[in-house]
Amino acid sequence: MIKLISSLCLIVAFSACAQQNKKVASSYVSKNNDVSVSLDTTWTEKVVKSDAEWKKSLTPKQYYILREHGTERPFSSELYEVKEEGVYVCAGCKNPLFGSDSKFNSGTGWPSYFKPYSTKSLNVSADNSLGMQRDALTCKRCDGHLGHVFNDGPKPTGLRYCIDGDGLLFVPKQGKLAVATFAGGCFWCTETIFESIKGVQEVISGYSGGKETNPSYESVGGGRTSHAEAFQVYYDPNVISYNDLVRVFFASIDPTIVNGQGPDRGAQYRTIAFYTNDSEKAIIDAKIAEIAKEYSKPIATQVVKFDKFYEAEEYHQNFVKRNPNQGYVRAESIPRRERTLAKVKDLVK
Ligand SMILES: [Zn+2]
Repeated sequence: MIKLISSLCLIVAFSACAQQNKKVASSYVSKNNDVSVSLDTTWTEKVVKSDAEWKKSLTPKQYYILREHGTERPFSSELYEVKEEGVYVCAGCKNPLFGSDSKFNSGTGWPSYFKPYSTKSLNVSADNSLGMQRDALTCKRCDGHLGHVFNDGPKPTGLRYCIDGDGLLFVPKQGKLAVATFAGGCFWCTETIFESIKGVQEVISGYSGGKETNPSYESVGGGRTSHAEAFQVYYDPNVISYNDLVRVFFASIDPTIVNGQGPDRGAQYRTIAFYTNDSEKAIIDAKIAEIAKEYSKPIATQVVKFDKFYEAEEYHQNFVKRNPNQGYVRAESIPRRERTLAKVKDLVK
């Protein structure tokens, strides 16, 4: 379905060759975007925002490309010369769009790729503007305009995805991630806290600490299982230590409350620090010994050998991000996050 009549990218590039190539700043990853840059692979969810919301969440350059179908000047994108391993995501919705393994030097001045990251990355549609027949590319999740695709690319696809770099963010490949598991009361609250912490790539809400297989939100929340609402933190140990995660955990809870946290009561809201080896257990034990002096009541947080974690239903993942105006989120989750982050300022993204 790729019709190549003429390439705007090439035409403009010829007139722009004299321009000096811009050197890539080491901070290009999040320079233009203060939100955390991590892969958001909640593929199925369509991101729909009003024009005012897009204006607020995007930089002027990103808005011009993604929402106004703009074209950046060739060689102007900081991503043009990036050769590092990683993934290029949509600046509007973080949908992974291109892997670094498909990037090639097209000489056009626009970041170029020979294939998308996945079948969920892009939509292709006819674009007959500027007197040309071209195939326009939009992000499959947020419909943001990205560029065009032409059939003069390299093997194996023969395609050239000519992309406006200002509509992308680059997520460099990270070292192997480690996992830590905790239970700290309502998992909506704990997820948003830990996702604000440096070195944390992803937090998954779920259930742990009990015996039943495949528990559901209804069965755990209703107190009909021995599980607690829990969460797993995927973190880069080169950026944040397990010790610091434990510090954040205890800053996020009242460890003296037996079977509860905030307004939630019941064993399903008990607090647990799970360990997978002796060194993690030693770190937790040392932290408890340290904070025990700060509280008049005994520490109720359980220290439990990790066994199994069951991921919660999809609609509980990224709950605060998805439901910022929900009553509990406004009254409990967000204030709790802000209180916690104020105690661990040095670890906040
Ligand atoms: Zn998008």
